Amino acid sequence: MKVYRLSTAFCLFIFGKPTAMIRISKLASSIQPSATIAAGAKARELRAAGITVYDFSLGEPDFNTPQHICDAADAAIRKGQTHYTPTSGTAEARKAVAQWYGRYHGLDVGPENVILSNGAKQSIHNTLAAIVGPGEDVIIPAPYWVSYSDLVKMTGANVVLVETTLDTGFKMTPDQLRAAITPQTRILMLNSPCNPTGTVYSRAELEALADVYLEHTDGAILSDEIYEQLIYGGAKSTCVATLRPQLKERTITVSGASKAYAMTGWRMGWAVAPAPLVKAMDTIQSQETSCPSSVSQAALIAALNGPQEPVAEMLKEFTARRELVLNRLKTIPGVRPAPADGAFYAFFEVSSYFGKSFGGKPVSDSLSFCAALLEQAHVNLVPGSAFGCEGFVRMSFATSQSVIETGLTQLAEWLAGGK
Ligand code: PMP
Ligand code: GLU
Repeated sequence: MKVYRLSTAFCLFIFGKPTAMIRISKLASSIQPSATIAAGAKARELRAAGITVYDFSLGEPDFNTPQHICDAADAAIRKGQTHYTPTSGTAEARKAVAQWYGRYHGLDVGPENVILSNGAKQSIHNTLAAIVGPGEDVIIPAPYWVSYSDLVKMTGANVVLVETTLDTGFKMTPDQLRAAITPQTRILMLNSPCNPTGTVYSRAELEALADVYLEHTDGAILSDEIYEQLIYGGAKSTCVATLRPQLKERTITVSGASKAYAMTGWRMGWAVAPAPLVKAMDTIQSQETSCPSSVSQAALIAALNGPQEPVAEMLKEFTARRELVLNRLKTIPGVRPAPADGAFYAFFEVSSYFGKSFGGKPVSDSLSFCAALLEQAHVNLVPGSAFGCEGFVRMSFATSQSVIETGLTQLAEWLAGGK
């Protein structure tokens, strides 16, 4: 077949003005790309160019999904479970989630309280879209996971940040929460264990926050508990919906299979909430994505109902990595790490290096710090500013101990070269 190509000059001559560029919506222009996803993409790009990168950017387990979960997905495909499912997920998959909450947290919920989605990220979006809109407030303690603020902005609601510091273990106090509540407050977002700080609130600390919230507003709580199975030492994760009897009707618990079961690519997340809210989220999801993947739902059932030893094994390895990271960081002058009681991140202060120059490049904030570090030492961290906390950087330790060893040696040497 002959292909005719028209030059731009010829088109201009024939058709006059070039067609106008498509205008990008206010919504798309007002939000930032996910900084963690962008950092992961940057590492991939460098690796493709043949550069060895010590990549600590993405919060993604390096383990493969346990075999019995893959086998369940394989069997589902062979049985023809390759069609649309109900919007909120199959009855069996929702039952598996509901029963898991009974076993793990003592929370009495049924399938009607569960909606599965394409990752916990979509569950957070569904929750926000079903509850808030312009003029309403969503309280978020900072540092917060990168996507929270932009997901709230996408609904038109206001982000009300509550700043916390390393000195208080990055924990919001009841007084701070009281001061942040307004008549427009519709949602409080909680995330314990926390990404990026690793902070885990005790049950008593969460009760104190819940009591203030219940007393001063009729808003809801969106509790993102996706790292609930990844906790270290004496820390214990708490399901916020179980704290007070009234909270079950006011809390949306978000979680997913990505972290504990090493299932990031399967995109399996969920929200557990009062049935009328689940129905509203179902309506949104029906227009948005029809349903989550049928094959991933079969895999999820195996993950939740099958043997839990793989989770314990991965946790054991994360525990060793955490020790390694925190011990090494403590030996680097001017670096102050947060305790990291849960999740798989070390969040540490590097502001004592701001104002210095590295390889001729001035470093003035966490963004320029991470850019210079990646370019010169090929160590990839995420700037604290992406999590609403300047002066800090985040290191994911969901990677091998040997990469951690070498990467931290590179980091220490690079820092020592600052002038
Ligand atoms: N919440 C937190 C705190 C996270 O770190 C992540 C990271 N992926 C998510 C939600 C979303 O997870 P996913 O969409 O992979 O289920
Ligand atoms: N939650 C992970 C992180 O914070 C994965 C990336 C993402 O979903 O943003 O790195």
